[in-house]
Amino acid sequence: MLQIYNTLTHQKETFLPLDAHHVGLYVCGPTVYDYAHLGNARVYVIFDILNRLLNYIYPTVTYVRNITDIDDKIIQASLTSGNSISEITERTTQAFQEDMKSLGNVSPTYEPKATEHIPEMIKMIQTLIEKGHAYEAEGHVLFQVTSDPSYGSLSRQGLEDMISGARVEIAPYKKDPRDFILWKPSTGDIPGWQSPWGLGRPGWHIECSAMSSKYLGETFDIHAGGQDLIFPHHENEQAQSTCCSNKPFVRYWMHNGYLIVNGEKMSKSLGNFLTVRDLLKKASGDVLRYGLLSVHYRQPLDWTDAGLLQAQNSLCRLYTAMRHAPKEDAASPDLNKEFLSALADDLNTPLALHILHGLASDINKSSSEKEKAVLAHQLKSSGAFIGLLTEDPDVWFQKSPKNCSEKALEGLHIECQIEARNKARQERDFKEADRIRDHLLEAGIALEDAPSGTLWRRLK
Ligand code: AMP
Ligand code: ZN
Repeated sequence: MLQIYNTLTHQKETFLPLDAHHVGLYVCGPTVYDYAHLGNARVYVIFDILNRLLNYIYPTVTYVRNITDIDDKIIQASLTSGNSISEITERTTQAFQEDMKSLGNVSPTYEPKATEHIPEMIKMIQTLIEKGHAYEAEGHVLFQVTSDPSYGSLSRQGLEDMISGARVEIAPYKKDPRDFILWKPSTGDIPGWQSPWGLGRPGWHIECSAMSSKYLGETFDIHAGGQDLIFPHHENEQAQSTCCSNKPFVRYWMHNGYLIVNGEKMSKSLGNFLTVRDLLKKASGDVLRYGLLSVHYRQPLDWTDAGLLQAQNSLCRLYTAMRHAPKEDAASPDLNKEFLSALADDLNTPLALHILHGLASDINKSSSEKEKAVLAHQLKSSGAFIGLLTEDPDVWFQKSPKNCSEKALEGLHIECQIEARNKARQERDFKEADRIRDHLLEAGIALEDAPSGTLWRRLK
């Protein structure tokens, strides 16, 4: 039984899909004007785990993650850089997809672009006007929040908090300061589409309402994103969608906590961000993924160099234990039950990782080669289920020096290689032991076997 914490009810609930054969999941995707940072990556890695788990439990899952390719930040980036909007959005979308792949995420079923769904948005806005939930003012179309008695039910905020809340613009043409833009006029070089209200472009929220209903239906199971999206984005999506269809919108809302650096939320506007691209130069995608999964998704995740080092070290340990898995692994996956239960308990990834380490300890402790192989197979299957431990250990260890160019990471990696070499020697696999030694030598690291153990030094 899958348990998830629902932002709507503020409690952990048993997940019951609308249709037991087909689950719908919508995750708000990136605004494509710049490279994804690690805070953005947290969202997509966490809900990738959810998608994998849903696919394991249910016969079909439709996972939609949109691409916001029309937004004032994109227009601004185009004006500043002199590059065309399509150049920026195409390049950034491609980079985003590459980054997601490097992090081990499975592609969503659909990745719809906002600019390819303008007619659907216009239609929805027309319906909202017809039903008395929206009005035209000075070329804009606004959603009238007082027309929706349940406005505020998702974020549970009082009126004053909503007005002073993030991203609420005060404008003279609004009947209520909380009213939000569905459509706005485009003038000059600003891109626009023909509409019943003149040349213009959609507001921020309408795309997710239009695209989710197109791909998942008017009422669907799970909608997710970072916690900063609860208000106003998700509150407004809910208002638009329920007022348009007269049906409930989303059954379970899920929101992840922030990735923080030095106590502050990582964000583009604060300038304290690390892009996935830059981080991939010093650590591999699976190390970043491990780090992102090491804290429960609803908790803040404080990103530090020490944490990155620990993630690298942990993977080193798991890969070392995984060497015992049979090479030609034709056997069907063997998922550890406690590991699955941890994930099914509101995606408790830190506990799931802890269970993988327990398996590694059992492998190290066992004196039976047969038992080691069985446990290592389970470790490998369970790791792969969450997009980790997917490589052959030899390949992974070979790639590692490149992954960890920083001296500290290198030190840890070398310790790990030494451990693996000692193990190979114990097993009288001298070919493998020599391979590891020669490989390190190529990287400028010499090993010396002393009575107290193996020492290493860097060659000048
Ligand atoms: P944006 O491109 O700013 O719309 O963000 C894309 C996604 O990343 C949204 O779901 C945000 O909530 C999420 N996000 C942005 N910054 C962070 C952060 N520091 N920690 C966690 N999630 C974040
Ligand atoms: Zn959205």
